[in-house]
Amino acid sequence: MPWPALSTSALLAVRPVINARGIYTDLGGTRLSPAVWARMTDANHVFVPMPDLLDAAGSRLADLLGAEAGTVTCGAAAAIALMVGAAMTRGDGAAGERLPDATGLRDEVVLQGSHRCRYDRQIRLTGARLVVAEDGPAMARAIGPRTAAVYVPAHRDGAPGTLPVAEVVTLAHRTGVPVLVDAAWLCWPLDALPRLVATGADVVCASAKYFGGPNAGGFIVGTRAMVSAVRAIDFTDYESGPHRAFGRPFKLDRHTVVGVVAAFEEWLAMDHGERWASCARRATALCAALAGETRIRAYPAGFTADERLVSDPVNAVVVEPDAQSPPAARLAARLAEGSPRVLCLVDNGRLVFDLEVIAEEELAPLALRIREELQWS
Ligand SMILES: *Cc1c(COP(=O)(O)O)cnc(C)c1O
Repeated sequence: MPWPALSTSALLAVRPVINARGIYTDLGGTRLSPAVWARMTDANHVFVPMPDLLDAAGSRLADLLGAEAGTVTCGAAAAIALMVGAAMTRGDGAAGERLPDATGLRDEVVLQGSHRCRYDRQIRLTGARLVVAEDGPAMARAIGPRTAAVYVPAHRDGAPGTLPVAEVVTLAHRTGVPVLVDAAWLCWPLDALPRLVATGADVVCASAKYFGGPNAGGFIVGTRAMVSAVRAIDFTDYESGPHRAFGRPFKLDRHTVVGVVAAFEEWLAMDHGERWASCARRATALCAALAGETRIRAYPAGFTADERLVSDPVNAVVVEPDAQSPPAARLAARLAEGSPRVLCLVDNGRLVFDLEVIAEEELAPLALRIREELQWS
């Protein structure tokens, strides 16, 4: 007898949450707009050769950002591995088949000390080694005949004591070494990505989760040579081509490719003033719903993509428990266990409710859960 099918609601009922943390891979990324969803549905109705779809999607993204070429990837983490693999193999299909065996290839990726970040782990998937250079002069010494590329996580660009990306580009290009930029969440402000492309960095990648796209989506834009070297090791032509390329596990659905482009187009056309204003309205509404609670102080704040609290622009509510209340960490743990589960952030003894992906209709149950925990404590 066949297993009864599990309905979507039964599947999601496993552990549904009110996501007051924001955009995190572990929580499924972001919400797709109805228009993006509709364009992904269109893609479901037609078959297309994936290389042609990637060409079309990539050239659209490149045009939007002032780059020569582009392609879609299954996220920025995959993009980092593919960019490094491309820098090591430069379009040599046989070399792309050998990875992560880097014998005979340039196999070092240079980065600055304060640019170490959790995603640089993807660099090593290719068989490359990280070479950490503490500052500019050390970076100049570190670049040599084994250097495949220099890696810059763009959100750390300009950290004290580091060379800015434009100077890294000048230095690396002296010896023809490509510069790879992880700009995963730099889709905001809108000029950040085109500025990075304009530095002359060879390839720049971004993650679609931050611009309203699929959680398993992202893209790379850059020079024609580097993007075609990425394409030479990506998941396409594995079954039909001569090489068992490195990137086969990083495969994409055609609706994901379309969703990445659709979401990025929508993001560029969006009224971002209204996007922030709508976050601020949700913050005001949540503060108002908590106004009667005397054991806390609730106020609007901004929670940044690099996880810092700022005053502006507002996309969150901070709740500070007073000395009589349970500590923030305990309140957060109880919110996460209750029904519905509410996931928020804890920062320095304060609860942070990021409202970026909170829907209007979730505000009332969210406020109710916070008030319940305060009353029971
Ligand atoms: C989220 C993120 C990534 C990974 O992006 P995915 O699209 O989830 O693979 C890489 N770098 C930074 C800085 C990120 O925030």
